[in-house]
This record gives sequence, C-alpha cells and structure tokens, in this order.
Amino acid sequence: MAEPVDMEEVMEGEFYILDMDGELYYPDEYSSDDENFMNLVRKEVFSEPIGGRESPHIKYLSKLRIAEPEPYSDAGHLTYLPNGALMLNILREYSTSTVLKIGANPVITSIMYDLDIPAIKKHAELFGQRMYKVKPGKREFVLRYAACFGQFALLRRKFITYRDLPLRVFELADSYRYEQRGELKGLTRTRRFFMPDMHVLTRDLEMAKDEFRRLYELIFSEGRKFGFEYYSLYNISVDFLRDNMDFLRSLLEIDGKPVLLKTVEAGKYYWVLNVEFHYIDSVGRPVETATVQIDIGNGERFGIEYVDEDGSKKYPVILHTAIHGSVERFLFEFLEEAAKMERRGEKPRLPTWLSPTQVRLIPVSPSDHLGVCEELMSVLESRGIRVDIDDRDASVGRRVKDAESSWIPYICVVGDEEARSRRLRVRVRATGETVEMGVEELAERVSEELEGFPRLPLYVSRYLSRRPSFV
Ligand SMILES: [Zn+2]
Repeated sequence: MAEPVDMEEVMEGEFYILDMDGELYYPDEYSSDDENFMNLVRKEVFSEPIGGRESPHIKYLSKLRIAEPEPYSDAGHLTYLPNGALMLNILREYSTSTVLKIGANPVITSIMYDLDIPAIKKHAELFGQRMYKVKPGKREFVLRYAACFGQFALLRRKFITYRDLPLRVFELADSYRYEQRGELKGLTRTRRFFMPDMHVLTRDLEMAKDEFRRLYELIFSEGRKFGFEYYSLYNISVDFLRDNMDFLRSLLEIDGKPVLLKTVEAGKYYWVLNVEFHYIDSVGRPVETATVQIDIGNGERFGIEYVDEDGSKKYPVILHTAIHGSVERFLFEFLEEAAKMERRGEKPRLPTWLSPTQVRLIPVSPSDHLGVCEELMSVLESRGIRVDIDDRDASVGRRVKDAESSWIPYICVVGDEEARSRRLRVRVRATGETVEMGVEELAERVSEELEGFPRLPLYVSRYLSRRPSFV
C-alpha cells in the first residue's frame, strides 16, 4: 500500500493522484481497478498512446454525411454538410439553453483583437498555445482562441456592482487555434471550433469557489444525462493546492472517483485551477471535453472592476467554463457512444433529438401511397418531429436498407394495408423491434424523446427524390 504524499513535499510540475480518502499519492506508486482512470494516468503522466491511432468516430463523419476537411482552407478546418450543420446547430442551441437556465447573458463579440493592447498580449502569452494572427493593414490582430477577449473588453467598459455578482456572460464562439498539424484529428482536434464559453464574475475567492462547485456539478450531471462518465484532471498552481485541500476534497464527492492533479508554478498561466473533464472514447482513450477554471489575474489585467458594498472598487475573480466542451467534441462524444454500441454488437445510433431525420416514411408505391404518407407527415410535423419520405423509384428493401444505414430511429413502410387500417408497423432502431401503432401514438413516443431538446427543421428536402446526391 502506497504512503500518502506530505503536503510539504508537493512540488511544481509534478503529477499527483487525489484518492477517495482525500490524500495525495504519487502516480507511480498508485494502482486502481478503474481501467478508465488508469488510462488517463498512463496517457497524461507516462505519455503512453492509448487506443491506437485511429479514432472510430471519423468513419461516421463521411458515412452519415456530417463533415469533411476543407482542402481550400487551412488544415483542421471542416466543412459541414446539411446533416452535420443541423446536428451542430442543435448542440449549439442545446448548450446555450443549458446556461440560460442558470442565468447566463449571451453576447456576440468580435473574433479578432489587437495584439498591441497589453492585456490582450499578456493573455495570449499566458494562454501558451499557438494562435492565428492576421495583419490586414498596419495593425496585427489575433483570432480569438476562446471568448475571453470579447467578454472582458465589454465588461471593462461597464458599470458593475456587487449586487450584479455572480455575473454570467456567454458566447457560443467560433474559436481558432493553430494546433500542430500532426495532432489534427476528426472532430477532436481542429483549428476552427465552436466553444460554448461562459465567464462568471464573482466577488471574491469564496464566491468563486461556490460558483465553481455549482458548475462542476452541472458538468457532471450534463455528462451523466448522456451516459458520458468524466475523469477529472486538475491543472493547479502549487499555492492554490496547499491552501485549498478541503475545497478539493469537497469536489471529489461529485466525481465519486479519484482525480489526477498536475501542479504548475504560480503565475505561469492565467488560472490557478483549471479542470479538464476527460471523456473516455470507444477505444478507451481519454479526451478532454468540458472545462472550468478559476482566474485571479485577468480582472486586474483587463481593468474589470465592480463597486463593492462599502463603495470601494475591486477586481472580480473570474471563472471560465465550457459546460459541454467544444461543440465538435460534444458531437464526437455521441458518435463515440455509437461506436461503443457497434463494438458491443448493437446497432449504432444517436439520440432521437440529435438525429437529422427522426421518422422516415417509405411508400410501397410512390405513386399510390404518397398521399397517405403526406398526411402522416403533417401529423408528425405538427408535433415538431423531423420526418421525410423516401419517394425514390427503388425497391422497398433497398429503401429500408438505406434508412437503416442512415441510423434513422423510426422507419415505417406504408402500403395498402397501412393506408386502410391507419395502423403503422414501425421499426424501432433502439430496440430492434417492429411495433404496431397509430400515428398519434408514434408522435407521442417520439415527442417524449425530444422533451427538453431543441427542435429544428430538416435542413434538406423532405422528399428524398428531390435531394442532391451528396446530402
Ligand atoms: Zn475564458
């Protein structure tokens, strides 16, 4: 049994494990039955490659016609086809609605910032990763790599009092990072991505920690809602670690499992605590998704002030958070869950609310049964369900097979019998069963699965015969 590490022995630039007993351990003396956690340790501490080079979600990007690399742009920039654009926008809306529920104020800010402004320059240095720069005239701008700049620039101009705190500002920001070319991969590492980025201004470190814990709980509950179990990596300054062990122990209860810590030198980054939540993909690889960070420097650096109860001006402690990680990685998680199903021998699928087509109607004879399909379609559409009709001139078997290979959650073949009885034989992808039901019952069943999620229309023609072949 390993001995706990004494707090006096904790050093900068080292890894530690905070175990469920609330003590720190050295990774090379630590073992656990939790293979996922040990994969995180192996990957981060010992730089071992996990799960091989291939990321299973990549094959789905073309199969489901989601996205493709854009050869006329820089590497790591994707073009989304209509299905992918729809999925991305559903996730953008969902992510926005999640923070609206906790009182966020959405804004839209610029994507480029002047590097001659000291606060911008310093933030860029402390961020420590490569960035895109543009110089259209004499001034040089940096493309935003997160939404910090725009929100901070806005907040420094505004009058804020202690009564406004915690103050939450949000932007779903397209962000640009000049990642290493060799690391670019599918949806997990791109040079342009969408970040649901929220900043929370708080009065002091105590309020920051309360708010932090609330966001931490939200990140776990959001992940668990979709079956994503996260493993936490804390990047932490040594000073903050020494002073806040009780706070860190209180977070452990939310994880319900050990966390990995990496200590950094105080003042090296803009944060004192930066938690990365790692999702475990279908090949066991931990991939960083959501984040929440405590920032004690940028309030002063950007000149963001609030008036406290006694009339004095103070700098807020700022939290940075992305509850679902980048939208691309959020989509990646759903695709990797599908890959897990495939590995278990199940049919891979997406949640119904995220599926571009939710119900497909297949008229046995496109000339005889189109009318009844259109009636069924209008009943389902009136409930906000995305429906299409495969009216192409092909055999029923072929059309069912195409619907299956597009992972459509509900498929109905409509012929004379269905037209007469008004009873549908519905193929349900999630269970593999064929269930007989009326259209109202089908509408009810699908609606239940859409409860609490954005309902956007189809981005392509409802009639398959009218779609261009590439969508
Ligand atoms: Zn930020």
